[in-house]
Amino acid sequence: MPANFRAELVACLGQPVDENPTGAMQEAAFQALGLNWRYLTIEVPPGALKDAMAGVRAFGMRGINLTIPHKVAVIEYLDELTQEAQVIGAVNTVRREGARLIGENTDGKGFLRGVRVDAQLDPKGKRGVVLGAGGAARAIVTELALAGCAEIVVVNRSVERGEAMVAELAARTGANIRFQPWLGVYAAPTDVDLLVNATSIGLYPDVDAVPPVDLSGAQDGMLVSDAVFNPPETGLLRMARQRGLPVLDGLSMLVYQGVIGFELWTGRKAPEDVMKSALRQALDCV
Ligand code: NDP
Repeated sequence: MPANFRAELVACLGQPVDENPTGAMQEAAFQALGLNWRYLTIEVPPGALKDAMAGVRAFGMRGINLTIPHKVAVIEYLDELTQEAQVIGAVNTVRREGARLIGENTDGKGFLRGVRVDAQLDPKGKRGVVLGAGGAARAIVTELALAGCAEIVVVNRSVERGEAMVAELAARTGANIRFQPWLGVYAAPTDVDLLVNATSIGLYPDVDAVPPVDLSGAQDGMLVSDAVFNPPETGLLRMARQRGLPVLDGLSMLVYQGVIGFELWTGRKAPEDVMKSALRQALDCV
């Protein structure tokens, strides 16, 4: 076989990106499979996104990840969106098919895969509570709705934002989603199967902050999941463990959205264990 020194390129575009650990797990996966691929973590300010996307096409890049602040703004530079990306209204992963750039959203899918694989819970017919109404909550609620959750309650501090998200996602998915304002401490009801923190409460450097929730009345099997991955062991998860509840950390969601991205770009089965340990190492929590 003739030598091929040309690497296939993928990248993460965002600002800030210095502390984004995704590159470490994708590069580890490329190496594990002997692929001559590179994952670049590139700082792109908002005003430079148009030029950056022209560059993505000019370089024939195989795909990209988008992070803050580009997840919505990137849509106008794409040729197509998947159903989930349309419903969520944001794109975190792009793959190239020929000359076409297709926008996906793998945040919610990554979360769902973690729930199914790592926590062994099938959300179909279950009752879920999602704290938060930002980008992560939107992706998680959408996937829980598409996975057939019987009821999803969104609890958010800002009433207007929460109500708007719920009205939109209920209309787009046809699922049973309702809003509850976050007043004081939210007491998890006894009939909830899954509670997810999709707010940024507890995110580094505010590691001692815990979402104001009361888990004392929750049923024993209620899964408590946190989208916050830095630190992986958040105050909420510690509180849930103390109460004897099963937990799922934010690394699970992060790894699986990366696994899905890897498989979309390369068409190969992702080496999940390699990616998990590379990520843990990158975040210094081996
Ligand atoms: P956004 O900024 O879009 O949304 C933040 C949400 O948190 C809002 O609902 C906001 O409520 C709520 N919030 C923030 N501070 C407080 C507070 N003190 N009290 C009550 N509510 C609060 O962020 P994202 O949705 O993009 O991200 C949320 C979290 O998810 C982050 O920690 C991020 O790192 C994590 N994430 C993890 C991923 C993973 O793969 N594990 C993927 C994507 C995100 P309000 O509307 O009232 O302001």
